[in-house]
Amino acid sequence: MCGIVGYIGYRDAYPIIIKGLHRLEYRGYDSAGVALLDKEMRVYKKAGKVSDLEDFVKGIDTSGTIGMGHTRWATHGAPSDRNSHPHSSGDRKLTIIHNGIIENYNVIKEALLGKGHIFKSDTDTEVLIHLVEDIQNETGLDLQEAVRVALNRVIGAYAIVIMSADDPDMVIAARKGSPMVIGVGKGEYFIASDATPIVEYTKNVIYLNDNEIAYIRRDDLLVKTIDNTVQTPYIQKLELQLEMLEKGGYDHFMLKEIYEQPRSVRDCLRGRVYPQQGKVQLGGIKEYSDKLKNVDRIIIVACGTSWHAGLVGEYLIEEYARVPVEVEYASEFRYRNPIITEKDLVIAISQSGETADTMAAIELAKEKGATIFGVCNVVGASIPRITHAGVYTHAGPEIGVASTKAFTAQVTVLTLIAFYIAQQRGAITRNKLIEYLTELNEIPDLIEQTLKTNESVKAISEKIKDSRNCLFLGRGSSFPVALEGALKLKEISYIHAEGYPAAEMKHGPIALIDEEMPVVFIATKHSSYEKVISNIQEVKARKGQVIAIVTEGDTAVRSMADYVIEIPQTNEAFVPLIATIPLQLLSYHIAVMRGCNVDQPRNLAKSVTVE
Ligand code: GLU
Repeated sequence: MCGIVGYIGYRDAYPIIIKGLHRLEYRGYDSAGVALLDKEMRVYKKAGKVSDLEDFVKGIDTSGTIGMGHTRWATHGAPSDRNSHPHSSGDRKLTIIHNGIIENYNVIKEALLGKGHIFKSDTDTEVLIHLVEDIQNETGLDLQEAVRVALNRVIGAYAIVIMSADDPDMVIAARKGSPMVIGVGKGEYFIASDATPIVEYTKNVIYLNDNEIAYIRRDDLLVKTIDNTVQTPYIQKLELQLEMLEKGGYDHFMLKEIYEQPRSVRDCLRGRVYPQQGKVQLGGIKEYSDKLKNVDRIIIVACGTSWHAGLVGEYLIEEYARVPVEVEYASEFRYRNPIITEKDLVIAISQSGETADTMAAIELAKEKGATIFGVCNVVGASIPRITHAGVYTHAGPEIGVASTKAFTAQVTVLTLIAFYIAQQRGAITRNKLIEYLTELNEIPDLIEQTLKTNESVKAISEKIKDSRNCLFLGRGSSFPVALEGALKLKEISYIHAEGYPAAEMKHGPIALIDEEMPVVFIATKHSSYEKVISNIQEVKARKGQVIAIVTEGDTAVRSMADYVIEIPQTNEAFVPLIATIPLQLLSYHIAVMRGCNVDQPRNLAKSVTVE
């Protein structure tokens, strides 16, 4: 998935690049590297985190006003020094950093090996820079043209930056399928995978489009398509604030992001909910109001945590808008032959807006004529640009690799979409909407109140932190909450955890229960309350340890559970927004107690831009 940063201007490039790489480390942390250019090209790279690279270059000359850096999430070749980016051409004059996958690298590599090229890594990326070199050698084309010709020969996804010792006043950047932002300064340009490394220097940015190549000099930017058509780049103003990218006194980004949820959900609701009028307004999908009146079916496509949000969306949309919903893993959906018609609406959910499988699912559904909405967090990312319409979650940058505030913001948006469709189709009365929206508007306060469970959740974490397995059970829309609770725990604490519909437990997982097995129930006082109580009894009868999330004042569950966590009373529709909070805290505390790297769990990266 990789993070890339580039700079050309009048300042020292190295500090800008290193700081930028730290900001992008959520994208991968297998290795890091930089290339700096003044009279000559210098490349430093190292397996490990960006801080390992910093240690490695201590005392080495890092001057230069042109440079680029990379933090890797390995796809081709193990995480090692030699597979770290930047990669160089055979004559060492050209260097490249790359985010993505060159799918036909093997065929190109074979051909280049036949011509005597020697490769120093196992990566697909190195093949691309050798291809550029080879084209130059064979045709005598200048670098700009050679890069363009090479990009026409590769299949796959890329965001690349290339520098050349023979052309020390230019940086070339290009993208197809992987994100790339160019920051426009005075006499300087910044390049990065997202805007976070750029925001402190300039708010003027250009989001490069697929199949575009930018030729960047200190005072000049030329953008062309790979077919050689000159483009007029569109400069946008960033809304991102620098404080959003700092830990702000918290030990970890994850904890900060958990605590930001009253604010992020409030931001997500702002300007969209009008309780007194019983009205939901969603500007991003307004044009499609008529379509929503006639839509036959909704298909939600997503991966990971976003897929869990999609499952909550299914409950809400079916319950309130009365439209059938299917929730699909994007990675499965794209590789079968799904039945999709023009009457279908596809909702694609992705925090980053760059998830490769979700993007492929969108393209497939688009080909079949469906209308596509995006639900994304990162403004200007790829998904909002390839969908017909959409609703941003406005959670602000999420840096912790395990998603927290992005999940609750996605659920909030899906709740709004459910009510919006219900309103358009007349499936709900105005009075009911007034009632629901009034409660929905109070959710940020209830999340605030729920965060006060932190100390008791911490105490429970202490008791179960050494478990090897953990079950999470819930019914109705609390089932996806259970799935999300289990995912959080496994992601950051490496404890094996499973989420299950509580009633399904007796069809298998019950065999796992003994005194060593903590079972977390979402047992709020709503439609399946009594049924869940029976499931709790079944676990207790087998000596399992029960941790229950209950509605404030509950006595029945308290009398049978080992530990309870009380959350405020709310309408059943909004339980996922509240019940998720203690589960996030539980996984956080357990991971900290186990000494795990909470913000950068092993093997993971935040935006999954590879299949
Ligand atoms: N395919 C490249 C590598 O393995 C880049 C990986 C990525 O962007 O995730 O080094």
